[in-house]
Amino acid sequence: MSLEKYHKKRKFGKTPEPKGKISKKDLNRFVVQEHHARNLHYDFRLEMEGVLKSWAIPKTPPKSTSVKRLAMATEDHPIEYINFKGEIPKGQYGAGTVKIWDRGKYSLLEKKGNEIIVDLKGKKLKGKYALIKPKGSRFGKKAWLFFKMKT
Ligand code: MN
Repeated sequence: MSLEKYHKKRKFGKTPEPKGKISKKDLNRFVVQEHHARNLHYDFRLEMEGVLKSWAIPKTPPKSTSVKRLAMATEDHPIEYINFKGEIPKGQYGAGTVKIWDRGKYSLLEKKGNEIIVDLKGKKLKGKYALIKPKGSRFGKKAWLFFKMKT
């Protein structure tokens, strides 16, 4: 686990985002941050192994089982980021407004290299969700799929 990529992309004198460090606590929380950057997207983050495992979802995360969303893996974020909302200034990485769209606890049901299944207990996202990394995607190696599973 490393926050090297996260730290490299940001100037902490200029952005209000937390510098953060690897954490030893793991409270099994998740957050979805609505990020009005160049393109609106939703950052889905799972507290896992001392960091926030992160994906950027270009469209609204699905509340029903009928929709599969592209989820692009992004750099691990520090746990402190789970509470971040506010304005990333113009000219900085990810410039734009960040709002908390949903948050809650989750249970990890399964985790393999290319498959994570969680039970989300958010206000908007509730139930069994999968993150699956397909073998090949036209969106490249960072492309995953995020969807609600039928139970
Ligand atoms: Mn983002």
